[in-house]
Amino acid sequence: AGRLAGKRAFVTAAAQGIGRATALAFAAEGAEVIATDKDAAKLAELRAPGLSTQPLDMLDAAAIEAAAKAAGPVDILFNCAGFVHQNTVLTATEAEWDFAFDLNVRSMWRMSRAVLPGMLERKRGAIVNMSSACSSLKGAPNRFIYGTTKAAVIGLTKSIATEYVTQGIRCNAICPGTVDTPSLGDRIAANAAQAGGLDAARAAFVARQAMGRLATAEEMAALAVYLASDESAFVTGQAIVIDGGWML
Ligand code: NAD
Repeated sequence: AGRLAGKRAFVTAAAQGIGRATALAFAAEGAEVIATDKDAAKLAELRAPGLSTQPLDMLDAAAIEAAAKAAGPVDILFNCAGFVHQNTVLTATEAEWDFAFDLNVRSMWRMSRAVLPGMLERKRGAIVNMSSACSSLKGAPNRFIYGTTKAAVIGLTKSIATEYVTQGIRCNAICPGTVDTPSLGDRIAANAAQAGGLDAARAAFVARQAMGRLATAEEMAALAVYLASDESAFVTGQAIVIDGGWML
C-alpha cells in the first residue's frame, strides 16, 4: 500500500507545474485524487489510476463550494493555485493587488472552509498551502504583491493550524525557491529583453539557487506527499523552506 492509501485528496491548480506533479504523486502513493484547475482542456490530459478531474476556477466562490460538496469529505487539501506578478511597490496596480489577494490568499480561505467541516467531523485532515520562500521569510526583487500574498498564506496557515491543533487537523505551508514550471518559462520570457536574452534571463533565476540549478516540480511534490501523509503527524503550522539554498 502507498503512503497515502485510504485517503482522499483535493488538489487545486493541478493541470501543470507543481499542482500536476503533486496530484500524480498523491495518486501514485495510493490516494484517491480529485484534481482541479481552471484550464479544463489541459486538465483533461491528466490521467492516472485513482485520479479524477474537475474543472474549477479558484476565483469563483460558488464553484469552490459546489466542487467541495461534489467531492465529499477529503483527508487532504493541497491549495496550490497562485499567480506571480512582477512588480514593485511603485509599479504595482490596484487591480493586480486585488487579483493576487483573491487568487493567492482568499481562494485558500474559501477552499479550507469548504473542506474543514468534513475534516472536523472525522477528526482528521491535512491542509497543505503553497507559499514561497519569497514571503515573510525573504524578499525578492520585483515581487512586491507576490511576496506580500505569500506572507499572508503563512499567516493563514498558522491560524488554521492553531485553531484545530487538538482536533486531528494539521495545516502546513511549502515555501519553494525557483521551480522549473511552465509559468517560470513565461516569467523568463518576460524578463528576456531586459536581461539581454532568454538564456541570460534563465541564468539569473538559476543563479539565485545556491545549488546552481532550479528545482523540479517533483521535488515539491515529494514534500507535499510527506506533509499530507501520517509521517508528518507531529508537524503543524510550519512554513517549510525547500529552496536549493537560496536562504543561505
Ligand atoms: P504554473 O504557474 O505553471 O501553473 C499554474 C496552474 O494554475 C495552471 O495550470 C493554471 O491553469 C492554474 N490556474 C491559474 N489560475 C487559476 C484559477 N483561477 N483557478 C484554478 N487554477 C488556476 O504552476 P507553478 O509554477 O507550479 O505554481 C504553482 C504554485 O506554486 C503557485 O501558487 C506559485 O505561486 C507557487 N510557487 C511557484 C514557484 C515557481 O518557481 N514555479 C515558486 C514558489 C511558489
